[in-house]
Amino acid sequence: MQKFQPTRIERSNASLEIQWKDSHHSELSYRLLREKCPCARCEATRFGKDPFHILPAGDFFENLRLLDIQRVGRYAVRLIWNDGHRTGIYTFQFLRELSENPPEI
Ligand SMILES: [Zn+2]
Repeated sequence: MQKFQPTRIERSNASLEIQWKDSHHSELSYRLLREKCPCARCEATRFGKDPFHILPAGDFFENLRLLDIQRVGRYAVRLIWNDGHRTGIYTFQFLRELSENPPEI
């Protein structure tokens, strides 16, 4: 579906900018992306199932940077963060839905 196909994905200072094939434009903050990280570890943390999780310090998100974006097949990207986290695979559909229905955080 055209709607879920990006034509361009770029990193800016504090957000990921996505241009979509249907001409929609998204800007997703790194904070939002990281808080919504779909990897198993982050999911467990989110639902309180990870007893070893250490809550991020106050300036965690201010220092958070995206180092790289790796394409995963035709449907997703892997985000590489500057704190070493790299297990989050974000499907294009997930990113598009996140930009259209941003949760309150
Ligand atoms: Zn994660």
